Amino acid sequence: MSFRATVLTLYPEMFPGPLGASLAGRGLAEGVWSLEARNIRDHAIDKHRTVDDTPAGGGAGMVLRCDVLAAALDAVADGRPMLAMTPRGKPLTQHRVRELAAGEGAIILCGRFEGFDERIFEARPVEPVSIGDYVLSGGELGAMAMLDACVRLLPGIMGATSSGEEESFEEGLLEYPHYTRPVEWEGRTIPEVLRSGDHAKIAQWRKQRAIEDTRLRRPDLIVRHGGAREAPPSGAQRED
Ligand code: SAH
Repeated sequence: MSFRATVLTLYPEMFPGPLGASLAGRGLAEGVWSLEARNIRDHAIDKHRTVDDTPAGGGAGMVLRCDVLAAALDAVADGRPMLAMTPRGKPLTQHRVRELAAGEGAIILCGRFEGFDERIFEARPVEPVSIGDYVLSGGELGAMAMLDACVRLLPGIMGATSSGEEESFEEGLLEYPHYTRPVEWEGRTIPEVLRSGDHAKIAQWRKQRAIEDTRLRRPDLIVRHGGAREAPPSGAQRED
């Protein structure tokens, strides 16, 4: 059975958007996965189709009503994981993306304005998910980012099956850097080792660069994975 995504949003016209292009778009056209965007407003209960109200306790903005959100979720709930996009959520990881991609799909709730009435997280099994430590104006781009990450892992989406396995985060490290022709460009050459044809040396160089670049750019990843990562052999020089 294929991966089914249901997005609950106030802006269903945003979908498929970028998910309709490239790999994800082809997969959608070929039925490798499916996408349904539903309007939360269809579950409003008053004649003005109100979905939000002012924050209890005061303050700026509007809050999405829990009764409307629950009705929108209940209408599509079928055992797939239910996730809500919010900067207050647990940061999305490649590990969670892999779990989701291995399942039947996902139901994704997109916020707007100040976000959701908190009681929705108590009353329904909804997992709060953040795509990073910054604030978007709505959950739709977050949902798209998450779905894109899941869909590219589905069988039949990526050409070379191995290209999903060596990526950044798969081993708790950033991926090594890539190069392609021209060999020389603006006086800079592709590292010699990558042109040597010596696969063992290439693998060693890549591992070393993955560790070094992760140390420099994302020391938090090293810490998160235990910090005990083997350092490159002491005195080892970058061969680039
Ligand atoms: N007042 C909220 C932010 C609301 S932003 C707060 O400070 O926590 C409006 C909506 O955009 C949110 O409900 C959420 O669905 C989405 N959004 C914003 N930033 C996000 C992020 N980093 N990850 C996931 N969704 C996000």
